[in-house]
Amino acid sequence: MNLQHLRNYLESRTEPVCAYLYDLAHLRQRVDMLRRSLPLQCKLFYAIKANNDALILQALLNRTDGFEVASLGEIQRVRAIDGDVPIVFGGPGKTDAELEGALEQRVMLIHVESEHQLRRLDWIARRRNLVADILLRVNPAHVPPCMDAQVSPEAGCRKRPQQATLRMGGQATQFGIEEAQIPTLIELAQTLPGVRLKGLHIHAISNNLNAQAHLALVEHYFDLAEAWQRRYRLVFECLNVGGGIGVNYADPHVPFHWEGFCAGLSALIAARRPGFQIVFECGRFIAADCGYYLAEVTDVKTNHGKHFAILRGGSHHFRLPVSWRHNHPFMVLARDAWPYPFSRPAVHDAPVTLCGELCTPKDILARDAHVERLRTGDCVAFLLAGAYGWHISHHDFLSHPHPERVYLDNGMERV
Ligand SMILES: *Cc1c(COP(=O)(O)O)cnc(C)c1O
Repeated sequence: MNLQHLRNYLESRTEPVCAYLYDLAHLRQRVDMLRRSLPLQCKLFYAIKANNDALILQALLNRTDGFEVASLGEIQRVRAIDGDVPIVFGGPGKTDAELEGALEQRVMLIHVESEHQLRRLDWIARRRNLVADILLRVNPAHVPPCMDAQVSPEAGCRKRPQQATLRMGGQATQFGIEEAQIPTLIELAQTLPGVRLKGLHIHAISNNLNAQAHLALVEHYFDLAEAWQRRYRLVFECLNVGGGIGVNYADPHVPFHWEGFCAGLSALIAARRPGFQIVFECGRFIAADCGYYLAEVTDVKTNHGKHFAILRGGSHHFRLPVSWRHNHPFMVLARDAWPYPFSRPAVHDAPVTLCGELCTPKDILARDAHVERLRTGDCVAFLLAGAYGWHISHHDFLSHPHPERVYLDNGMERV
């Protein structure tokens, strides 16, 4: 999406602007590029929880190897656009109805997260005379310690203390089966006629910006998988290494070094020659860059010596910056029209805090961010809003109108 597309959109609207704009052409190009650069032995799935809009899924259909889902609702969203596309199903809380639904909807692989889930799936599949293909989801005993460390800029990472990385594994969480228990579960799975063990799944961290550290993570997963293959004389078909490749909200110009990561991965595969397929299931890294969240400035004021801009919109539409406690990157789209016969509140060359319209002091999308000029009536466009934006937000808190949700395809609006 270029600036002109954003401006065209602004000019076409008279009400205070509040909208998500998604760029489908860019999304297609991006995922094609990502998939092309992965080594041949790898598959790329899209984790739909990042953004499950039908047009987004349609754009990614046939451009990824399939979709990763975490509920029966998500299975149905995928099946609504395609009856056959491969689906892999994770999540710690799958109910019996969800496991039944997954079998009914011909989910390709179920990622089993506990012994009880394994036994229930076996029981459900057997009653249907089916055998469910599964991966065991591992919560590793540890993950490589370099994950939060400073490495060279060539690796695409700088230390950003304010930028959190969530951990699902390598520590006590509700996710997966702890490493020490995996041998018992491999043995158990081999005795259960309703399941067929195809390999392992490990999704241990989220929003990792460090390509070298991510490579070390994948190598560690190879070590785990190969050790168990040897010990149990097994041949895994698949090692799913999860998602978690990061998006640099603090500095969008220094993204995760994808090319370096892929080159390192090729070398690793050449050296280790693993027999299994390596599956990635990325959400953020695929979808973030295709979305903008636009909000008009409805007021500018100074309180206790600080400048505040109030937006038509806020964290009820775009919860991500509050959730990750970061200042979200944005650009100012100037608008010269000013309808009132009195002066225009503005801030010049100063830090300003961008607030939403909610009645809570937590409704802040960027704090003390420097602007050259921001006037009431201008518009703010938040970047990297295509993943975990609208879909994680509490839309009806305070009953403000929802944003418009617009999908552009080479500048043309799709409906
Ligand atoms: C959320 C999630 C993903 C996608 O994570 P991203 O950080 O968006 O790449 C992949 N796998 C599982 C199991 C998840 O829960």
